[in-house]
Amino acid sequence: MKELIMIKYGELTTKKANRKVFINILTQNIERMLKGENVIITKNRVRMYIECDNAKHIAQKLQKVFGIYSIVIAYKVNNNIEEVLKKALEIMDKNKKTFKVVTKRADKRFPIPSMEYSRKLGGLILKNSNFKVDVHNPDITLNVELRDYAYVYATEIAGAGGYPVGVQGTGLLMLSGGIDSPVAGYLTLKRGVNVECLYFDSPPHTSIEAKNKVIKLARIINEYSGKVKVHVVPFTKMQEAIFKNCPDTYMITIMRRMMYRISEIYAEKIGAKILVNGESIGQVASQTLDSIRCINEVTNMPVIRPVACLDKLEIIDIAKKIKTYETSILPYEDCCTIFVPKHPVIKPDLNKCITYENSFDYQTLINETIDNIKIISDLKEETFEELL
Ligand code: ATP
Ligand code: MG
Repeated sequence: MKELIMIKYGELTTKKANRKVFINILTQNIERMLKGENVIITKNRVRMYIECDNAKHIAQKLQKVFGIYSIVIAYKVNNNIEEVLKKALEIMDKNKKTFKVVTKRADKRFPIPSMEYSRKLGGLILKNSNFKVDVHNPDITLNVELRDYAYVYATEIAGAGGYPVGVQGTGLLMLSGGIDSPVAGYLTLKRGVNVECLYFDSPPHTSIEAKNKVIKLARIINEYSGKVKVHVVPFTKMQEAIFKNCPDTYMITIMRRMMYRISEIYAEKIGAKILVNGESIGQVASQTLDSIRCINEVTNMPVIRPVACLDKLEIIDIAKKIKTYETSILPYEDCCTIFVPKHPVIKPDLNKCITYENSFDYQTLINETIDNIKIISDLKEETFEELL
């Protein structure tokens, strides 16, 4: 193996007490991402090194691992300035004009202080090339980290940032086929939360295509995790009962209260600590503050709404960046879009909700629904036998 990647950790370096746990989880996540690749991973408190055959290819994969601040394609040479100079001249892009040297002396036993080393190496580069020095706005920043060896690099690729997925336990994402909830899932993963997905399916009112679309979205966000599963809730009976027993204007509010109830019980069952969804303040009738309050009233579990304060266009930007957008806009109906009343209530009255709900035995329906949730753990295949 001839190439080397050096990883700089993300925010985790600020969490001193947990650093070891964070680095271990990050290592597992990187190993999962690089499964099947020929690599040797070593690490210490501040850096991880990956020896590999094709650094560019590995770097691309690593850009989807949260908890990485930056990915550096580095060159490891013996710790003497002639060798460092030789490597520097080799990797500095000849199409560029100006440079500066930044030295980090990690091993303080190294005799020359960083600034002095940078000056000395800079002088040697000047003498041996046509590059000019520009300390304020250089075309190339030539970095040297002096450790057991000298690590020389000129390119640094931004990592995905955030915390390693898993350091925060699990959240249950209510995943629809829309634009917002996959983005909410991505943002939650980014904060180090393991995400499991819950999809409310209402066949035959919703189609197999709609479900496959959700699985496809889960697969895309799974690229940042590797551990995402989709839990499919058979929601037909509940929706039909709501349709039959509740007035039009309250159908969506009550349906969402039922979704929250089911989500909370199921989250407890699978050990998820929070609920996550793609609600955004004011976007639709069920997302006015009055609606959110009335719907949220059925649960004591924290509900995280990562896109609550983003504009639709901002959400779309992220969806495009993470490549869920194209799938999200496919035109399959969702259980929220069938049975949609013309004028859903935007200021629901809690007492009315309770009265309407008590007109049918929803608790039995909830229990039955939860007992019949099906888990899809292999997201590779899009088509599968009819689940319900
Ligand atoms: P999205 O674009 O994510 O579908 P939306 O703006 O269409 O969101 P709603 O349909 O009101 O909004 O849904 C709000 C949130 O409720 C969704 O972001 C999602 O988290 C959850 N949700 C809606 N429908 C479903 C479903 N069928 N299964 C699971 N969660 C759902
Ligand atoms: Mg939706």
